Amino acid sequence: MAILPARVLVLALVLLVLPFSLRGDEPAAAPAGAFRTVDDLSVPDSSRPVRDLVLSFGAATVRLPEGRATVVTDPDGAPAGLFLSGKGTFTWISRDPREAPAVRWTLSKNTRLSPTATEAGLAVTDSFESLLWLAPAETLPELASPATEPSLAPAFRKHRDRTARVKEPPFAHLRAAQRRDAPDARVVRVETTGGKEDLAFLHDPFESGRERLTASGRFQVRVSRGDDRSYAILLAEQPIRGDLFDPPSPRVVLTHVELKLTASSGSDVSISATETFEARRGAVGTLLLDLVDTAESQTGATLQQTALFGDVRRGSNRIRERPVTVRGVFDEAGNALEFDHRSDQLAVALREPIAEGTSARVRVEIEGGLLVRPLGNNYWFLGLAPWFPAPPLSGRAFSARITMSVPKPFHPIAPGVTLRRVEDGERNVLETSLDGPAQNLAVLAGAYSLEEESKDGRTLRVASYGGRNRTASRSLLDLGFATASFFEIFLGKMPVRELTVVEMAVWAQGQAPAGLLLIGTEAFNPMGTGRYRRAAAGVNERFAHELSHQWWGNGVGLPDLSEQWLSESFAEYCSAFFIRQAAGKEAYDLYLTRWRSRAAQTKETVPLLLAHRLRAKNDQVQADSIRTWLLYDRGPLVLAAIHREIGDEAFLTFLSSVQSTLGGKLGTTKRVEEVLEAVTRKDWTPFFDRYVRGTEIPTVP
Ligand SMILES: [Zn+2]
Repeated sequence: MAILPARVLVLALVLLVLPFSLRGDEPAAAPAGAFRTVDDLSVPDSSRPVRDLVLSFGAATVRLPEGRATVVTDPDGAPAGLFLSGKGTFTWISRDPREAPAVRWTLSKNTRLSPTATEAGLAVTDSFESLLWLAPAETLPELASPATEPSLAPAFRKHRDRTARVKEPPFAHLRAAQRRDAPDARVVRVETTGGKEDLAFLHDPFESGRERLTASGRFQVRVSRGDDRSYAILLAEQPIRGDLFDPPSPRVVLTHVELKLTASSGSDVSISATETFEARRGAVGTLLLDLVDTAESQTGATLQQTALFGDVRRGSNRIRERPVTVRGVFDEAGNALEFDHRSDQLAVALREPIAEGTSARVRVEIEGGLLVRPLGNNYWFLGLAPWFPAPPLSGRAFSARITMSVPKPFHPIAPGVTLRRVEDGERNVLETSLDGPAQNLAVLAGAYSLEEESKDGRTLRVASYGGRNRTASRSLLDLGFATASFFEIFLGKMPVRELTVVEMAVWAQGQAPAGLLLIGTEAFNPMGTGRYRRAAAGVNERFAHELSHQWWGNGVGLPDLSEQWLSESFAEYCSAFFIRQAAGKEAYDLYLTRWRSRAAQTKETVPLLLAHRLRAKNDQVQADSIRTWLLYDRGPLVLAAIHREIGDEAFLTFLSSVQSTLGGKLGTTKRVEEVLEAVTRKDWTPFFDRYVRGTEIPTVP
């Protein structure tokens, strides 16, 4: 180890001790009191005997024939709920029969519970030995019996320690937010331990408008890589009001973000995000935002990729984590705001609530080891994991201004129209502006060479990795313009004016955040042998699929993951359409054959609209495969069936009408169905009930 000169050491110590002194006159961040004290629950030093106690709220019912109970209190002595001890049962009812297949599937893969059909719906029941019921005081029953029994404090502590180990968004954030913003909202949470499973029930009319049932468990694929933490696993979820498939209505929407990103040459980065939030449902005094608290740097590939593609697994097999820290959150006047960042969620207490229909700006300063280099390559990628604070999907409709400064020789790549790309001493600087409304934003930097061309008001840019590759760049620019022109005939103008095609040093993969098209290295090296050649064979299909995501998934956004088929199945179908145009009907028929055989493997699983529910703690690879077959095979087969029935012309009108009606908005299956009905003058409800909201697979001869 090199010995540091004394002066450098002193400076390093100053940096460690005084992170804020170097940031001008910003005050230190306020403490997270409001978000922590709600966790400090306690029980008194005695308890009461109970008999035939029944508690019921929303989909949940608790029965305790005989046991003990005690009131749980907040630090100020106000009642926060009840803690029960004894042999009881907890029951959840899934009301909508269309959810039943997903509930059965996730229960069988993640729990030792089996559901029973009842008149009210599908019932999930488990026993418990201790149970915590957190609810507003006015909903709690009076405990009439005298406090003659010993304290439940030891059992309560044990229960709290056990449930605190599950990685999930902290309930304390939601509880603190509800108390500040909507004191009358009846948010209820129930946690059980001592049964076959540890279950958690949440009834949330305040933030999500839904109620959900989760179990918890370790994921085998993570355990084998050194992570034996317990994660919350969603078993069932239904809206408190309305239809199972209604999109969530967000409380707050992120409408603009200004990102200033300064990268080190290692993994550290500092990000300043100035964000504009609009209150949509009531006044908003507390923000609950997604933001990762650790960067995982196993191989840089996702765990699914690691498990599926053995060749990705090089280097260390263990997941390494680097912390991501929020240094401060400030309002427009520069006041430090109270915040709490843990379990991938950032809670912020505003000084003044944002009135419904109005906006406010908040600046968040973030630091951490986010710059993961996949497989040790010379690039890093900040992608779909929330690396800057954002509400859930339905609350994202933002424009963006991005400034990236990265050390040479790396080149920054960001979506949007290029405002400036300059050298600044030892650094490369890029500034772009992305028109909204976007739901995702990815940036990257690496040893890239850039080539670009503009035509008809569009700029295509190719970023090849590790040295100039003129032949590949030329052919990808040509392919890009040809594919985009084809799609524009029936989908309308490409939603972004600039698109950068980026080489990733992996095979047979693609991603398409707004304004970017990330594609495997085979697209840049079409010649090759073995596995390499097989990957290369699918380049045009994959390229067309990823390019059409600028319309599907970006142009038409998603209010919720349940609508993911509007992105993946439509992109896949448009890819097949392009291939039919380029290579003829036989090439299209090959798609059909593949869709039929893979869709058949999704028989008796879940509806297309519940593909995102597939989780299996002991076999996540299988769960991901079925999800893939649903979205990339069964979904396209549904579109093929529609196409077959209504013919080329009406089908193209359908696609173009969906784009003109829903482009720049959040799409839903219901709206898409309405467009189809307007185009064909026919009721498609039975068809969608069977093949999209139900589990049937269409036959396309
Ligand atoms: Zn896709």
